[in-house]
Amino acid sequence: MSERSAVPDLAALHAQGAAQQPTYPDQGAVDHAVERLRSFPPLVFAGECDELTEKLAAVTRGEAFLLQGGDCAETFDGVTADNIRNKLRVLLQMAVVLTYAASVPVVKLGRFAGQYAKPRSSDFETRDGITLPAYRGDAVNGYDFTPESRIPDPQRLVDVYHSSASTLNLVRAFTTGGYADLRQVHAWNTDFVMGSAVGSRYEAVANEIDRALTFMKAIGADPDEFHRVQMHSSHEALVLEYEHAMTRIDSRTELPYDVSAHFLWIGERTRQLDGAHVELLSKIRNPIGVKLGPTTSADDAIALAGKLNPDNIPGRLTFVTRMGAGKIRDLLPGLVEKVEAAGVRVAWVSDPMHGNTWEASSGYKTRSFDDVIAEVQGFFDVHRALGTWPGGVHIELTGDDVTECVGGGEELSESDLAGRYESVCDPRLNRVQSLELAFLVAEMLRKA
Ligand code: PEP
Ligand code: MN
Repeated sequence: MSERSAVPDLAALHAQGAAQQPTYPDQGAVDHAVERLRSFPPLVFAGECDELTEKLAAVTRGEAFLLQGGDCAETFDGVTADNIRNKLRVLLQMAVVLTYAASVPVVKLGRFAGQYAKPRSSDFETRDGITLPAYRGDAVNGYDFTPESRIPDPQRLVDVYHSSASTLNLVRAFTTGGYADLRQVHAWNTDFVMGSAVGSRYEAVANEIDRALTFMKAIGADPDEFHRVQMHSSHEALVLEYEHAMTRIDSRTELPYDVSAHFLWIGERTRQLDGAHVELLSKIRNPIGVKLGPTTSADDAIALAGKLNPDNIPGRLTFVTRMGAGKIRDLLPGLVEKVEAAGVRVAWVSDPMHGNTWEASSGYKTRSFDDVIAEVQGFFDVHRALGTWPGGVHIELTGDDVTECVGGGEELSESDLAGRYESVCDPRLNRVQSLELAFLVAEMLRKA
């Protein structure tokens, strides 16, 4: 292995400075958990990561579109068949709408099977005069607001592994075992969505697909792609112990891969050029992403690309911009223009969620559907004006009928938020809102 791909040990990474890490009370317990994780089999195969890099290279070239979505924070309690199926189903529906309506290949990337650790803007949370350590995701501590529950417990990292393994197992079963068969397009459109306006619109697309499938069958074409989909997994690489323990040397290439997921990204709060997260992800061979918020300068982005993708391999690096609906049109043009002028090869993806969070008068953290759409529209318009490719969207969503974001065709209002607010972190689009977004993005894509 070349010097360049040698992964530093954990102590060296920590010494480099790592933001947003838990403070574990018992180092012996951390070592034990890390040792267990190192002994477990990989969750993904390095060859699958390479396949995703190839697909993201097509996104980089403007030949495909990335749909990345899932919960802000997965929870251990959320690892149920219903929950996983619903999430998968909404992603499949969105992908069908995007592919059919825009005639562009869609790369499907779940924000699941590992999305258990959260960066926080404050280390503490205060409720009714009581201050406790902030909840950092099920990977770190408990959501319950008690002193015991908020103590970081490294055994949770082992639980992340097992929860991710069960999630991925079911996703693989669904995507290859018949559930994702295109002849199921109607079957995905069930329950509360079917009665909505967007559900009817989807039904019309499904009818057209049905007719196309019947035609293909009649002429004797029945490719494998009709019966299965490829769905990859992704999460934010945040807790160094977990990501380091899951980094292994691939036997085919002798190169390091983080086999906890196909795709890993670095969050807005941990993208320091000389920090531990950038260092670790610079060493692994998976396709990776970096979130870029409104304070990102073009020089920052160019330096990150230089460190994370020194060979400028297309598909290796994705920049996920999350500027906010009010800022995207001002901030994105300069950034994209300079990064492209520097010859950086990168897939540009829009996260229209994280720059658009606000607190409703009732105290719920929310986002407005219109702001989400406005940021995606700004993203498309900027790229169109520059002649660059708007490569995809990164969405926090759920397959359930939750009430966490306001607006959309059902016109959820602030007073509706209490009805079914289930997120333990950021507000997600529900299934109807997600499908509406897919139709709107498909229209933008048609014109891109
Ligand atoms: C997230 O994706 O949940 C997140 C925290 O995003 P960001 O790093 O962009 O704030
Ligand atoms: Mn989030």
